[in-house]
This record gives sequence, C-alpha cells and structure tokens, in this order.
Amino acid sequence: MKFAVTSKGDQKSNTLMHKMRSYLLDFQLQYDEEKPDIVISVGGDGTLLYAFHRYKSRLDKTAFVGVHTGHLGFYADWTPDEIEKLVIAIAKTHYQIVEYPLLEVIVRYQHGGKETKYLALNESTVKSVEGTLVMDVEIKGQKFETFRGDGLCVSTPSGSTAYNKALGGAIIHPSIRAIQVAEMASINNRVFRTVGSPLILPDHHTFMLKPVNQVDFIVTVDHLQILHKDVKSIQFRVAQEKIRFARFRPFPFWKRVRDSFIAD
Ligand code: NAD
Repeated sequence: MKFAVTSKGDQKSNTLMHKMRSYLLDFQLQYDEEKPDIVISVGGDGTLLYAFHRYKSRLDKTAFVGVHTGHLGFYADWTPDEIEKLVIAIAKTHYQIVEYPLLEVIVRYQHGGKETKYLALNESTVKSVEGTLVMDVEIKGQKFETFRGDGLCVSTPSGSTAYNKALGGAIIHPSIRAIQVAEMASINNRVFRTVGSPLILPDHHTFMLKPVNQVDFIVTVDHLQILHKDVKSIQFRVAQEKIRFARFRPFPFWKRVRDSFIAD
C-alpha cells in the first residue's frame, strides 16, 4: 500500500508527520506523494481541506484520515498520542471506507462557452466584488427569487458544521446526499424579499445563480477564494464524486457534533 502524509506546517504537526512516515516505512508501506492509496493529514480540518484539494483528481483511489494537533476536528479525529495505534491499524487491518458527498460548482461565462468546475468538501460561497450581491436564483430550472444581501453559502453535509452553521443552517448527517443553501444577511423589506430560511436540496436538484446587473463575483471553494469576471451563471449540485475516509473505529457523526460544540 502506498501512503502520503501532509502537515499543517507547524513544528508539532511536522514532527508527527515525520514520525508517522518512518513508522509506516518500518511496516514496509511505500511512500508515494503522487499516487497514494491513503493520505494522512496532520494538523486540523483546514489541513484535510488542503489534502482533499491536492488529491481531488484521484478521489476514487485515495482514502483520507485526519490527525489533529490542535482541537478536535470534524475531519481530523485522531489525537497525537494515538498515532502508534493508527499506524498499526493502517498497516495491519482492512479498514472500512466511509464515503461523504461533495458539492459540484460550475461557473459559466458570458462569452466563449468556457466553464470552470470545482469540487468543495465544505462549501462554496458567492459574494459581490463591491456592494450588495444581487442575483436571480433558480432551482431545477425554475425562477425561485431574486437574492439581495451579503452573499450565499452552499454547503455539503459534512461542511454543514462549518461556515453554514455560523449562518444558522442546519446540521445534516453526511449519509444524506444533499446540499444546503444558507443566506448571508439578506435584505428583506416591503420591496425586496427572499425565502429567509436555509434550503436543503436533494441529489439531482440544481441550484443556479444568475447575475442581474454586475457580472463579477468572488466565489470561495473551501479555503480558496477566486474572482470570476463576466459570469453568466454559477451552478451548484451534489457531485458525482465522493470523498472516501478510512475508518478504523466507530466515531459517530452526532458524537463528533456533541464533542465539538457541546461538551468534551
Ligand atoms: P480557518 O483556519 O479560519 O478555520 C476555520 C474553522 O473551521 C476551524 O476551527 C476548523 O476546525 C473549522 N472547520 C473546518 N471545517 C469544518 C467542518 N467541516 N465542520 C466543523 N468545523 C470545521 O480556515 P481553514 O482552516 O482554511 O478552513 C476553511 C473553512 O473555514 C471554510 O471551509 C469555512 O467552512 C470556514 N469558515 C467559517 C466561517 C465562520 O464560521 N464564520 C467563516 C469563513 C470560513
């Protein structure tokens, strides 16, 4: 089996990364940064987001596992003092694979028929470059509303505990293939109106944003921020691709929610 280890880059994470690499080499596993079967991310949720984007072209062949060197993460749930146990589990056991849904984002442009496709593990947000974001919203090809406000956040189920939660969105179990749309400070008065509630869309339902006046937008995809000019539409839906996590022990999602937000 081929493996890679990624680190947040701080001293503690780098030391753990080197330790894990040498332990796994001792077990005759092969280090391969380009085509790993398993990627161990050492740091936090942010480190796993980076690892996901680094290996997004081989999601069907790579499984991820996260070690946290700070607080408990949603994607990074192994502690530094458990790494010997984790190494043995990786080297010696047939681990279980758990798949989580991802978000597909397609940006299309006014001219040239070009499009850009992204995959998000947590979420994608759309904000205006200047002033209020004004966009027409279509769901499954039907006009739904005209959104005016700071922006919109479209998240995956596993991303529902991140930015989406701060926006008042619901927490969705990652076994549900869905995407969630949460508003950022929408303008609601006698002239302008939005639904005002987070929306949860099932597989195969597309959520589409179309410019009303301005055509330049800031689109984020997880930790990445990209300026798109001359935009014709931005489309969101549940991706065909999935992320695969290597599971060595049960750690139920609701327990992770409780441990992260309610009690240790
Ligand atoms: P960061 O360093 O600012 O970390 C953001 C925090 O989000 C960290 O505490 C991290 O553990 C947590 N986090 C990440 N994914 C999570 C998940 N799926 N569930 C629960 N918590 C999660 O930024 P970063 O490390 O580069 O991560 C980027 C993420 O930051 C974005 O994907 C977005 O979800 C999040 N974010 C949150 C807010 C907010 O809550 N107001 C605002 C902007 C971005």
